[in-house]
Amino acid sequence: MTSRKIRTRIAPSPTGFLHLGTARTALYSWAFARHFGGEFVLRIEDTDVARSTQDSVDQILESMRWLGLDYDEGPIYQMQRLDRYKAVIDQMIAEGKAYHCYSTPEELEATREAKRAKGEKTLYDGRWRPAAGKTLPAIPDGVQPVVRFCNPLDGDVTWDDLVKGPITISNREIDDLIIARTDGIPTYNFAVVVDDWDMQISHVFRGDEHINNTPWQINIFNALGAPLPQFGHCPIILGDDGQKLSKRRGAVSVTAYEEGGYLPEAMLNYLARLGWSHGDEELFSSEQLVAWFDGTHLNKSPAQWDPVKLLWVNAQYIKQADSTRLANLVAQQLVKLGITLEAETIATHLPLVCALLKDRCDTTVALATWAAKFYGDVTPDATEQAQHVTDAVRPAVVLLGEKLAACPWDKASIAAAIKEVLAAHAMKMPQLAMPVRVLVMGTAQTPSLDSVLEICGREKVIARLAKA
Ligand code: GLU
Repeated sequence: MTSRKIRTRIAPSPTGFLHLGTARTALYSWAFARHFGGEFVLRIEDTDVARSTQDSVDQILESMRWLGLDYDEGPIYQMQRLDRYKAVIDQMIAEGKAYHCYSTPEELEATREAKRAKGEKTLYDGRWRPAAGKTLPAIPDGVQPVVRFCNPLDGDVTWDDLVKGPITISNREIDDLIIARTDGIPTYNFAVVVDDWDMQISHVFRGDEHINNTPWQINIFNALGAPLPQFGHCPIILGDDGQKLSKRRGAVSVTAYEEGGYLPEAMLNYLARLGWSHGDEELFSSEQLVAWFDGTHLNKSPAQWDPVKLLWVNAQYIKQADSTRLANLVAQQLVKLGITLEAETIATHLPLVCALLKDRCDTTVALATWAAKFYGDVTPDATEQAQHVTDAVRPAVVLLGEKLAACPWDKASIAAAIKEVLAAHAMKMPQLAMPVRVLVMGTAQTPSLDSVLEICGREKVIARLAKA
């Protein structure tokens, strides 16, 4: 652990939704900062102007809000810092640490092709790199230069990765990186260093697709005389087919899980556990995560996305969730099913429905499907209707309808009415309960019948039984 103030960041590019992998590194960065009483920064890396969109920014901010990943600074937009990058680049050029390169893409490709033909590495040939006693080519007319970083020609870059352990890459493997494009906009590997320096980032957690960028970044930090952060590269997340989780392979945005009826604390729990462990703990709160997460026990090998486990985790949180809170979430899901409830119903009645059903639902979408039976129309399942609503039981159902029309509307009185009908027709509970369930809820599998009837309400129950 360094003596620097702990400052972490997440730096998503707004070229699409917040990926699950980025959400996970955001979570680790956040938990690490919170654990050590440090600070967490949100930076939007929007220098890929052609692909960055406001819509992506909005989705990223919404995902962070939903997951409860509060940041102490930001969002900071790279495109608002262009002057700063330019100043650093000018300084580097003045100090001989960077240089203009006028090679055209066609020239570069021709050089690469020639090297390929000779079986050599296709690194940049250093044509425009200044050196003592070297005469540079004449500057061609009408060519806008890029700026390249003078990467050290020899030696190794080594760092002790917080996740992967010591990593060494030879400078001979890497070339003079372009740090500003012809339009003057800096490239990722340069802007990220200036930002991590200016924002005094002490620890960088990110996906391991960036391991190959890290040597360049370390060399640029060193060239700038900036203190190095510690790096931790988390392995990718694999889909259930063992391939990298990608848009095509079922990877969806964090917001899609919100819409899909997951609770943020379940998502946070699942994401944290995917790639990190604290003993055998499977279910933990964000407070526990913060208490435990010190950057150790991060897995070196890729984690596999497991939708079944995520559902299980979500179900555990739904069971424990406050029913009024669930009601508000379920009300939003009901709107998608075409059912819009009054605020009064959401505040007083829907929580009763949620309390009754939350044990058997793994998402708020599933809860809404159930809740819809209490507010919308119910079409009994045809097979179950044929099986349970028979001529033999119809008279008992009719009698129950009559008794329920007259009795006080509470669970005990409803239970008493059911008992009276059972006695009058010499029937056993299931013989009556099954058809009543099918008629009232559309299915024979429901929670306790008297509770279902009480919450469904007299008017609806009588009308649905009348269809026997
Ligand atoms: N914008 C980069 C990305 O989204 C950030 C990588 C980093 O954290 O340095 O992958």
